[in-house]
Amino acid sequence: MENTMSFKDLNLIPPLERALTKQGYTLPTPIQSESIPGLLLGRDLTGIAQTGTGKTAAFVLPILQRMTEEHPRVIKALVLAPTRELAAQIGESFAAYGEFLKFKHTVIYGGVKQGRQVQALSNGVDILVATPGRLLDLMNQRKLTLSNVEFFVLDEADRMLDMGFIHDIRKIIAKLPQKRQSLFFCATMPPEVNKLAKNL
Ligand code: AMP
Repeated sequence: MENTMSFKDLNLIPPLERALTKQGYTLPTPIQSESIPGLLLGRDLTGIAQTGTGKTAAFVLPILQRMTEEHPRVIKALVLAPTRELAAQIGESFAAYGEFLKFKHTVIYGGVKQGRQVQALSNGVDILVATPGRLLDLMNQRKLTLSNVEFFVLDEADRMLDMGFIHDIRKIIAKLPQKRQSLFFCATMPPEVNKLAKNL
């Protein structure tokens, strides 16, 4: 696709345009101009994209925009990431791009005590970014429900499979509503990843 598209052409709402200006972004990256229009219409997406291409904004911006049409503070967006570091970075993107919106997000991951994460969940969040193991653990303890999720993102899916998260991911997906928008990002598309993408 041509690279002459501007953020104006993407028809983002003013609070998001303001956040992009604040971030100092002037033009959408190719993955952003290719994916944002369809995502705003509710389409599913499989994107082959490395970190550094702007893929996080490509999914965070349309999710935030579509969520402004909803109200109660329940988990409406779920993003799964393979590592604590990536999950934290995605959380920072929701904070930056959503600065002028009213949503709350939280990030949960393993390797730390669960108390603060459980407290954040019980205060109510709209967006949950999680690593699969801790998420499943808290789901089994009934600390959260995924029955209101409308936007589901699997980031770095190939790495998640390499790290052995496939069973956890399947159990999590089984708890999501059937009617949802699913986004799937990976750096490479080996056959197992392709199969998982098709299942989604
Ligand atoms: P990502 O591929 O999501 O890890 O993003 C890579 C980096 O690009 C991040 O540091 C973003 O802040 C930055 N970025 C994302 N979109 C744009 C844009 N349209 N213009 C300039 N920088 C961007």
